[in-house]
Amino acid sequence: MTRSVDELREEMVSIARRMHQHGLVAATDGNISYRLDDGGFLVTRSGLCLGEATVGDVVRLNSACRVLEGGKPTSELALHMTVYRIRDDVQSVVHAHPTYANALTFAGVSMDELVIPEVVLTLGRIPTTDYGTPACPEGAEVVAPHIVDHDAVLLQRHGSVTVGASATEAYLKLEKVEHAAHILYLARTLGGPTPMNTEELSRLAAVGKRLGINLPPPLRGLKSVL
Ligand SMILES: [Zn+2]
Repeated sequence: MTRSVDELREEMVSIARRMHQHGLVAATDGNISYRLDDGGFLVTRSGLCLGEATVGDVVRLNSACRVLEGGKPTSELALHMTVYRIRDDVQSVVHAHPTYANALTFAGVSMDELVIPEVVLTLGRIPTTDYGTPACPEGAEVVAPHIVDHDAVLLQRHGSVTVGASATEAYLKLEKVEHAAHILYLARTLGGPTPMNTEELSRLAAVGKRLGINLPPPLRGLKSVL
């Protein structure tokens, strides 16, 4: 079932407000986009406080990123376009500045280790990019090598990028990343988390297959031990 552009706009507004309410962005940070069936895009406008978003704050672009309706698109448009260029399967991109996940990148702590089973099962590893200046082409390109086979990526000294078949799906991955970052932060203060071993990962992969989950790369190749 194809959803109308108005329905997608309303979903983006709802997700924008949730991002602000949950403290995943502050002030005018963060942005959301959708890829449309006609090859065009919807993106949140530049300078928008996501907590106050309305449908009038969603800009419609054609496939060449020319504005068809609305104001000036987000300054992070290139970041979103880098993801769409690389991932044919992605319909929506969410960029945020989650506090704990960001704190880990500022401290040079990676979320790349396989520690939390439910996160490993759905997101696999969560890599951190090299540093690239925000709102610049270089800041957008740093995501390219990682977004190829990851649905959640941390931008060093900046924030997060999560993707999905809908804005809701991309948003839920953002929530999961931030929750995991909070847990990892606390675990480190208590002595440090330990990564899952191969047997634990193999059992997890078997459960994932049974549940019909599209397993992320670190689990995909593992032999089932159940
Ligand atoms: Zn940002």
